Amino acid sequence: QSSSSSALIVPGQTIGVLGGGQLGRMMILEGRRLGYRFVVLDPALDSPAGQVADEQIVGEYDSPMAMERLMDKSDLVVYEFENIDPDMVRMIEAIKPLPQGSNLLRWTRHRGQERKVLQDAQIPIASYQVVTSKTQILEAIEELQLPCVLKVLTGGYDGKGQWVIRTLDDPFPPVEVIEKGILVEKFIPYVKEISVIVARGVSGEVEVYPPVMNIHRNQILHMTISPAPIKEGIRERAEQIAYQLASQLRFVGVLAIEMFVLADGTILVNELAPRPHNSGHITMDIMNPCQFEQFVRAVTGLPLRKPARKSTGIMVNLLGEHQEAFFEQLANLPSCAKVHWYGKSVAKEGRKMGHINFAGDSSLQDLLELVNEIPIWE
Ligand code: ADP
Ligand code: MG
Repeated sequence: QSSSSSALIVPGQTIGVLGGGQLGRMMILEGRRLGYRFVVLDPALDSPAGQVADEQIVGEYDSPMAMERLMDKSDLVVYEFENIDPDMVRMIEAIKPLPQGSNLLRWTRHRGQERKVLQDAQIPIASYQVVTSKTQILEAIEELQLPCVLKVLTGGYDGKGQWVIRTLDDPFPPVEVIEKGILVEKFIPYVKEISVIVARGVSGEVEVYPPVMNIHRNQILHMTISPAPIKEGIRERAEQIAYQLASQLRFVGVLAIEMFVLADGTILVNELAPRPHNSGHITMDIMNPCQFEQFVRAVTGLPLRKPARKSTGIMVNLLGEHQEAFFEQLANLPSCAKVHWYGKSVAKEGRKMGHINFAGDSSLQDLLELVNEIPIWE
């Protein structure tokens, strides 16, 4: 960790953001409330984050000139998504404070590396192998036993770049994809998917958010329920995993940890994200501070705050295919609904356009019934 990463920046100073997506947008909205200024680098003009930043730079992430311009204007740099070249981030890190560090990015953007890091930290994960040919995939399947999941090593998200193999007749990835490296992993018959958001500050303090339960549709997050309806022992174990990872990885910022809960209560970690996460969006309306404020606190060196729950809540994503029905229902939403819309110009199927948080003192069951009555997501 470079010594510059312990620098504290104060409200009024400027945070440069690599990436112009919705995560950047929400971290900027929270950060501006605290008085920070923001400049965003994104290849597209009018990006979700660019719209709410003090300034946007239009440029590619691999353009040294664009990086120069971003660094010129920033007192500190963060990344809001992981498909950035870690060497570029390393270059920035040598010049400007980049508290998250390039290591966390290097570990989490490559599924093979990610699994090594988890194993080194003695965190339980599904059995896996990393291979580069069809023959090796078949050998791995022989050993792991079907069903298996094949995943691309880098660049996959929302279930893209994944193949579930239940029989050998199921479609396999194309050869050119296999040659770049494939993770062959045991298919896990989990009973629940949960996740934990954990923040770590410059001075090493750690704050863990209570586990939430996630429901996916077509491998894209559909709904998050907070708190996760799990036994006390499982909650403790999930939070302990989060502490353990945060202490061992020694990152600064926010880490999201996706986990599978098995029928016997075993927890396996599935995926890490080196940033605020979709499943943490519910914190915006039911926890103080939310994951985005906590992230800004962590990277700027402001003290972290212990997350305090205001109520229970449910988050539901609004994807491109929901946009029309959402606009129709906008006037009818219940009073406990809070809309977060990302300002993306084109609605595509599967694209995350926004989300709605439902927060209430009513039981999760009542809240769920209320959500299920809204004709947006059928
Ligand atoms: P990403 O979120 O980057 O697309 P994930 O590894 O989180 O990739 O996979 C997306 C979803 O696919 C998971 O949330 C889970 O529902 C399902 N999935 C992934 N790996 C497995 C597995 N080994 N066994 C069963 N389901 C899986
Ligand atoms: Mg995932």
